[in-house]
Amino acid sequence: MPTALPHERARPLAKGSVYPAKDLCSQCGLCDSRWVAYVKQSCAFLNQRFEAMEVAAHGRSRHLEQEDELYFGVQQRMLSGRLRQPIDGAQWTGIVSRIGVLALERGLVDAVLCVGQSSDDRFTPVPLLARTPEQVLAARVNKPTLSPNLEVLEQLPGSGIRRLLAIGVGCQIQALRAVQATLPLDELYVLGLPCVDNVSRAGLQTFLESASRSPATVVHYEFMQDFRIHFRHSDGSSETLPFFALDTPKLKDVFAPSCLSCFDYTNAGADLVVGYMGAAFGNQWLTVRNARGQQLLELVEPELETAEVTSGGDRRAAVQQGIKAYDKALKLPLWLAQLVGFFVQRFGPKGLEYGRFSIDSHFTRNALWLQRHHPEKAEAQIPAFAKKIISRYRLPAE
Ligand code: FAD
Ligand code: SF4
Repeated sequence: MPTALPHERARPLAKGSVYPAKDLCSQCGLCDSRWVAYVKQSCAFLNQRFEAMEVAAHGRSRHLEQEDELYFGVQQRMLSGRLRQPIDGAQWTGIVSRIGVLALERGLVDAVLCVGQSSDDRFTPVPLLARTPEQVLAARVNKPTLSPNLEVLEQLPGSGIRRLLAIGVGCQIQALRAVQATLPLDELYVLGLPCVDNVSRAGLQTFLESASRSPATVVHYEFMQDFRIHFRHSDGSSETLPFFALDTPKLKDVFAPSCLSCFDYTNAGADLVVGYMGAAFGNQWLTVRNARGQQLLELVEPELETAEVTSGGDRRAAVQQGIKAYDKALKLPLWLAQLVGFFVQRFGPKGLEYGRFSIDSHFTRNALWLQRHHPEKAEAQIPAFAKKIISRYRLPAE
């Protein structure tokens, strides 16, 4: 009789019990499924394995000497675009949801792993295996909180699902890729979202209360390429705030420790990544990493207005300044924040250079955070590509 595999013998831990990554756990959901059996090798916060993941998923690891790959990962193609008919209520124009719908309608997959919302709170994530286009559409828009996406792996055995499209952020996809070979699937497509600065539901409340004039009515927000946070309220009104006006002293500790120790901003393991930060203001940004990613893009490409990616400005002085401001937890008065915002928006980095600005700022901040809070983990947790990027800046003494 064949020996059972570890996940066939394991049972998920009771929800809320100990997660091996402890304070660094991003609640990715793996430990809430029987695939907890592989947690030591698979958890993004216990075992960084970027190179192995890239080789397995894309056939090679990124070329560190090529700037676009150093920053944005293995790629065949980058482009920007928007749906000609945007999906109402989506985060941007809804390219991600549309790909999910088309993947089901064209019979490419049996289900789409996506994130719905709880019936009493639109920001509380509820991961699901959507079997219909309606379920995928109902899961549109970000739930900007840690989401246990991989808990739904528990539902796969016996479900009849053999081909899956998984939508997710970097830490979820790292763990998913690590257990991929043991899943009861014939095909797995991975549609990734870039992600930084995620928060617990309580952390989100602190953020909204410090940043919005009406935290209770916010239905959607995004940090956009014009260096402003755009809030949309339930009455249809909108509000913007320059990044530089954020209450840094109050918000310094609001981000989840997992996100302060993460270097997978651009979702290295996904077949196709759909974000916004490398595109001109208002457009989405797509990175095709491999042939499967191209297959996903081809589903939706005829419905897109596309454009080449562009790049402008020079981020480096702004990143170096930002390191100092963050370290000192400076809060600017609103008039000064508006003024700085005006100049940065006018003359600051744009397109791919804006993407690099954001990556540099987050990687340097996270390296500093790790060195201060988990010095014993810093060497292993920071991947080679991030070390190369961080070495371009002067970090304050520890
Ligand atoms: P939609 O069609 O509205 O679909 C959104 C999809 O997101 C849905 O399928 C849903 O299943 C999924 N989803 C919702 N909440 C979560 C969650 N918590 N975890 C995993 N999946 C979820 N892009 C950038 O370029 N830079 C960033 O810094 C950045 N940060 C992000 C942080 C978070 C927490 C998330 C969820 C996304 C982030 N993105 C970022 C991606 C970006 O905001 C859009 O989600 C993306 O461009 C797709 O837009 P859309 O209109 O096509 O999505
Ligand atoms: Fe488990 Fe995921 Fe938390 Fe790691 S991040 S401990 S795999 S739930």
